[in-house]
Amino acid sequence: MINELVIVSGKGGTGKTSLTAAFSALAKGTVLCDADVDAADMHLLMQPKICQTTDFMGGGQACVDPQVCTQCGTCRDVCRFGAIDETFTVQPILCEGCGVCVDMCPEKAIGFEPQKCGEWYLSDCKYGPMVHARLGIAEENSGKLVSLVRKEARNLAEQKGYGLILTDGPPGIGCPVIASLSGATALLIVVEPTVSGIHDMLRVAELASHFKLPGMLCINKFDLNPEMSDKIADIGQKHNMPVVGRIPFDSSFVQAMVAGQNIFEYQPESQLSKTIQKIWTQIIGSPAMNSMGVLDLQSTIR
Ligand code: SF4
Ligand code: SF4
Repeated sequence: MINELVIVSGKGGTGKTSLTAAFSALAKGTVLCDADVDAADMHLLMQPKICQTTDFMGGGQACVDPQVCTQCGTCRDVCRFGAIDETFTVQPILCEGCGVCVDMCPEKAIGFEPQKCGEWYLSDCKYGPMVHARLGIAEENSGKLVSLVRKEARNLAEQKGYGLILTDGPPGIGCPVIASLSGATALLIVVEPTVSGIHDMLRVAELASHFKLPGMLCINKFDLNPEMSDKIADIGQKHNMPVVGRIPFDSSFVQAMVAGQNIFEYQPESQLSKTIQKIWTQIIGSPAMNSMGVLDLQSTIR
């Protein structure tokens, strides 16, 4: 049985990736999965050696064949995105790939080839195998790519006999986040003690409850607003999401990232490192991670 912990946040910049990288230094027998494909940055901390690169093919894009087109105008009439100009040429930047024009063209003059939207990678990094991806600039389908990297991480875990996948999820609550939660074992929401932090956390918590996914909270920079942090803990309790850790504001997180290191490489003896170590132990021993009753605590700590 393979467990997957997905680390998410209602918005970017909460320390989610730094925390995931730190956990990966503590966890053994783990596949690391960077599912934040729109703004992948885990590789900056992991310096992965890419072993395999595969194109990510997204949805189709319309392309009119002028040799067959009779310029009847139907495609321009049905395209809700104004993507076909007066010369019956599809503007790639405007085409949403809905395929309506392809179906409606009486001459079958419109092709619909899948487009390369990015790449995904199987890599080796300092703490084990890693699956990550890069979505092309302004490309869509990040939810599909998230599902793909998670599936490949699971395949890899099966092949290597690993029991845990650590997934750095996308921020927000959109399609990529939904794609990162389905089928996971548990999620950890990293939240900051602000009004918007609570708002974002609640939106992710709603999603988690939709997927019946056990959740935990980690409050980053809790000391910037202790009252608000207590409020987050109260809200978490109501949603059955315990706080597994409170991390004080510490610029070392950012300094470590600038140095391309996780906190255990950057400052192994620091209080921050000790705090994160305790949080990891809490997570691994939590009912959320053990809801499937298969996680062996000792085998999961490096
Ligand atoms: S619907 Fe087909 S035939 Fe008509 S203008 Fe568009 S591409 Fe040409
Ligand atoms: S695929 Fe959809 S968005 Fe693209 S040109 Fe055809 S109708 Fe317009």
